[in-house]
Amino acid sequence: MQKTFGHLQTINQHKIKVTSLCFRCGLYKQGLLHDLSKYSPIELKTGFRYYQGYRSPIDAQKETEGYSLSWLHHKGRNPHHWEYWLDNSKDGIKPVPMKFQYVVEMFCDRVAASQIYLKEKYRDDSPLKYYRDNQSHVCIHPQTERQILYLLGYLKQFGLDKTILQIQKLLEMDRQGLPLPI
Ligand SMILES: [Zn+2]
Repeated sequence: MQKTFGHLQTINQHKIKVTSLCFRCGLYKQGLLHDLSKYSPIELKTGFRYYQGYRSPIDAQKETEGYSLSWLHHKGRNPHHWEYWLDNSKDGIKPVPMKFQYVVEMFCDRVAASQIYLKEKYRDDSPLKYYRDNQSHVCIHPQTERQILYLLGYLKQFGLDKTILQIQKLLEMDRQGLPLPI
């Protein structure tokens, strides 16, 4: 019962934070839909069973079972994860560029996760540091990498309010079909 409550509290808290960040960027639909699949039976079951409070239940499930069907369910339905954008071709698996609106949602997701995880230790350079620490494990298109590094670097240099203003400008350019300068 405690695990059930703990898991629901974690995912609700995260979703509220990401939704409000997405709203500030002007991404209303994505803000509302963000991580909704976490409330599906397959993902909830893993969350309840492997809840630990200090890390993702998916990591705990992978450690115990060797893989996570819950994660495969999640990443296949949520385009803010770079893993969603892996395609296979005759040369093997390759990353395709993420749409910019989802790079922004990934940015919001990472900022919210860092804020919740680090609490009072959170700084504007924390999400960039986390990205850099895990960079060798990702398979991400160079354009996507450039864009997410630009946003995380902008956050480090100018803070959240200015980064959101910059994101709003870039999203507007993207909506108009203009090439992004990043
Ligand atoms: Zn997600």
